[in-house]
Amino acid sequence: MPYCASRFQTLRRATHEVMIGAVGVGGSNPIRIQSMTTSATEDVAATVRQSIALAEVGCEIVRITAPNVQAAKCLADIRKSFSAAGFAHVPLVADIHFLPSAAMEAVEHVEKIRVNPGNYADKKKFAVREYSDSDYDQELQRLYDTFAPLVKRCKALGRALRVGTNHGSLSDRIMNRYGDTPLGMVESALEFLRIAEANSFKQIVLSMKASNPKVMIEAYRLLVERMNQESMHYPLHLGVTEAGDGEDGRIKSAIGIGSLLLDGLGDTIRVSLTEDSVYEIPVARSLADKAMSLWKNQDLPAGELAVSARTSAAWPTQDAVDPFHFTRRETTAPDLGPSGKTGPEQPPRVIVRAPSASELAQTFTELATPRLKDTPAEGVLVTVDTANDLAPINAALRSSPAPSFLVLELAPALDPSVLATHLPRVGTHFVLLRSFGQNERDLLRRWIELVRKFGYTLACDIQPDAFPALAETLRDLGTSNLLFTLSSFESAGVAQHAVGAYRRLAEQLHALDSSAPIWIRNTAATAVRNESSFLSRLLEASVLAGALLCDGLGDLISIETEADPVRATTLAYNVLQGAGARISKTEFVACPSCGRTLFDLQTTTQRIREKTGHLKGVKLAIMGCIVNGPGEMADADFGYVGGAPGKINLYVGKSCIQYNIPQAEADDRLIALIKENGKWVDPKLAPISL
Ligand code: SF4
Repeated sequence: MPYCASRFQTLRRATHEVMIGAVGVGGSNPIRIQSMTTSATEDVAATVRQSIALAEVGCEIVRITAPNVQAAKCLADIRKSFSAAGFAHVPLVADIHFLPSAAMEAVEHVEKIRVNPGNYADKKKFAVREYSDSDYDQELQRLYDTFAPLVKRCKALGRALRVGTNHGSLSDRIMNRYGDTPLGMVESALEFLRIAEANSFKQIVLSMKASNPKVMIEAYRLLVERMNQESMHYPLHLGVTEAGDGEDGRIKSAIGIGSLLLDGLGDTIRVSLTEDSVYEIPVARSLADKAMSLWKNQDLPAGELAVSARTSAAWPTQDAVDPFHFTRRETTAPDLGPSGKTGPEQPPRVIVRAPSASELAQTFTELATPRLKDTPAEGVLVTVDTANDLAPINAALRSSPAPSFLVLELAPALDPSVLATHLPRVGTHFVLLRSFGQNERDLLRRWIELVRKFGYTLACDIQPDAFPALAETLRDLGTSNLLFTLSSFESAGVAQHAVGAYRRLAEQLHALDSSAPIWIRNTAATAVRNESSFLSRLLEASVLAGALLCDGLGDLISIETEADPVRATTLAYNVLQGAGARISKTEFVACPSCGRTLFDLQTTTQRIREKTGHLKGVKLAIMGCIVNGPGEMADADFGYVGGAPGKINLYVGKSCIQYNIPQAEADDRLIALIKENGKWVDPKLAPISL
């Protein structure tokens, strides 16, 4: 059962419409943007101020935590004041964990209630026990008795619900039967959905959030597949939870949310950043706009277009990617010099573009900065327009610290014999990048013969629709010494997005039985043309590379939309880290904060990052509260969690090791804990600035 109409074009998934007050979600509505206030809910004035600030920057749905009945009661005044300020049209959502009584109070005052199925009816004890079928049925009955009253009240008052599953807070019942898995997340939501359906209530939006974009992507896909089997068409709320802040938070969010939006899934989104909530809105807006601009490309009904794409001779029908379980595509790698190896055991390699052949030496020098000592550009890409460009390239190779391999992007007019006579055959490994159209079979043959003769690698940039015409030559000669990439995506016959074009390339290689590596190029052509802000470029790069890497595709990446080579290198490593494809620094999982938060998350996160940002491979969670925090931090190595005002609890994995430490001592105690567990190294250089 497919989870989306097409993996090559953005064909929006059809859902029924859910009304949150006056705001429609799903159906034919645009993607709705939402966020959450961070003030204490009982501080009505502050919460109203934050709600207004969010609405004024384009937030269409505002969520407010309701940690207890008292806070839930305050929602009445918040709603009244927010409406009086001119925002009656902006719906409010109460965020509920643990307390059905708070939900039953909140439903009287706001347009939507979010419940977490992991803790709405279950106190999580991390208990390990076997559930017999009758135990399980009894648990489900208890769930029904707890949740059905809220469903009935929502129905009576015309409210909506979100069943918001989090990877880190699944109930013990689900954990023991399904484990800490995307399947467990889906089952957790379906239990609640069935109770609502038994009461003929369908005004429900679903979410499957995780801090790991791969887990989150798989969970949403699986949820849609399962809903399709049961003829359910509920809208989806997308989000990567605890994404953190700054560039890393934006990258992780773009990877998770952007990948699903490309697949046509998602009706409302929240970008969770450990920053003031208003900064989430431009990121969410940009992701939503990019996705909706792709919807407009459809000029046939969704079903017809998808069928025509899949059955066209140019589109192989065998998709080698399992979209529900991450597996990295098997590749046999060409040797790209001392640190350039690619393949299943190797992380994806980073390539950076130099502005020109004459500035190559300068680029080599810039890339030799100590800042990139642990995150080097393994390959440098430079354009060769004429044979005259080869002289400065040779000079740069002789005079400056060269990368592991050099990629020469060859102008179409360059003849293979020119390179054969002018390139040095020592030191740096050469990759020759050339674009091939469908009438260039003979030329492809000549280039393949040349690279094999001299021990180079050929990067074949296949023009749209050219692969079928070139396939015979590739089948004849084999694909050793070759890698494949794309730089233009607009197929003549069928609209496709850049991710779809790479997926199609992977399918075509699969059909050839080739395991040649794939190089993901984020070129100027993939950027939205009239939008060139850094945020826009960062999101483009994250969605393109992240979506593919989370599908297990991609052995090399380059972000060519950044002119500064050091910046481009850092960004590429940050995208690889966000996709979990190459870990080069500490991974921070930080909650966005809300009315439950017990310390200043933003300054604390920055301070801890300064002290621990050099710990490659260590995953650190910084969570604002104990109620939800420990569960949310899922697979972190260490946790720094608010236990009480001014007090911190420290975790190793899921176990709390130190309780109620004064906050002033908590940083040092955390570092001591990291040392005790053998994960500390002294910083050699200044921490990477983000
Ligand atoms: S972990 Fe953070 S965002 Fe989640 S409930 Fe606690 S304070 Fe709020």
